[in-house]
Amino acid sequence: MRKDATTLQDRLDALLRIAKSNERKQTHFQQYELSLLNCSSLQALLQLILEEHVQRFQLTSVTLLLFDPEYTFRRLIEGLVLPSVWQSTLIFTETQATLDQYFNLQRTPRLCSFSADQHSRLFPDHPNLGSVALLPLIRQRKLIGSLNLGSRNASRFQPDIGSQFLQHMAAVVAACLENTRLHEEIKLVGLRDPLTGINNRRFFDQRIDEEVSRAKRQHSPLSCLFVDLDHFKRINDQYGHAAGDAVLKQVASLLNQLLRSTDVLARFGGEEFVILLTDTPANAAADIAQRMRIHLSQQFFAVNANKQIQITLSIGLATMNHSNQIHTSHQLLQAADQAVYAAKISGRNRIHQAP
Ligand code: GH3
Ligand code: MG
Ligand code: MG
Repeated sequence: MRKDATTLQDRLDALLRIAKSNERKQTHFQQYELSLLNCSSLQALLQLILEEHVQRFQLTSVTLLLFDPEYTFRRLIEGLVLPSVWQSTLIFTETQATLDQYFNLQRTPRLCSFSADQHSRLFPDHPNLGSVALLPLIRQRKLIGSLNLGSRNASRFQPDIGSQFLQHMAAVVAACLENTRLHEEIKLVGLRDPLTGINNRRFFDQRIDEEVSRAKRQHSPLSCLFVDLDHFKRINDQYGHAAGDAVLKQVASLLNQLLRSTDVLARFGGEEFVILLTDTPANAAADIAQRMRIHLSQQFFAVNANKQIQITLSIGLATMNHSNQIHTSHQLLQAADQAVYAAKISGRNRIHQAP
């Protein structure tokens, strides 16, 4: 009788311990879920998924495979400075089949032993895992990616372990990824010029302030080029507005190709572009501007099916170098604008450097 009571008590204690442990897990998960839901930037969300997740749930590796056929995600993160470790944990694919191979038709989480053959693409840095959980990320019945959890422990993820909790987590992650992607796209739309796809003036106004502060902090020179196409009105008048638009698009793309990734290019308005050359003194900026002018003057622009034209441009150049009169973004831009005006009145198709 007494023995039975003790056994019963032991069993109750054990159940209580399990219940407590489940409660702790639940709280832990809820905290994580809340931080996912509170994320407003893609970078912060990726940080939670790729870094915090590993630690919080004591995993060996967490990776994310995203179906990105139109490079949407990659374009959004292009301008961000991401930790180099993400190069192997943030994986993209353009083909649906890459994702489909990991899941059954019901697209339920897949918990199994690690197999180098099957899983090395998902965990390139961890060839010695014990078990993995591959969680399909689904939005509007479409598979948009997979969240991959890897553990050194072989018994951590096995097919007989309940996966409802993981399925729930995958649903939250998928929803958050979609939300932040849309959020970032909306932010970009407001900062991008719809015709040429490059930055717009609003973006430039923000960046020039940031770059001026950075140049002051680092005591580095900052150059600004104001580019204005010569006699652009004539192109519209002669070949039509659509031809003018096509020329503007091609000019934007050519200018973009000539710049370094740290430089900032924007369409200022109409047929005017502005460029910030970071850490670039006046003489180097003049060389770049000269190369730009010559390169563009050698290009051909199709204005209709049978006609190609050539164009020229004028460039005003100003540099903030801590020894001249330029101390603010407003002064820098104004000096470049006045310089392009001087280039125009002295004959066009040339560079003019602000004093
Ligand atoms: P200048 O050499 O003095 O710069 O002559 P310009 O004709 O280029 O200068 P102006 O400022 O007089 O005219 C700019 C023209 O650019 C006027 C406008 O028709 C054209 N333009 C501005 N924005 C667009 C656009 O988005 N698309 C097209 N096709 N044309 C545009
Ligand atoms: Mg103009
Ligand atoms: Mg012009």
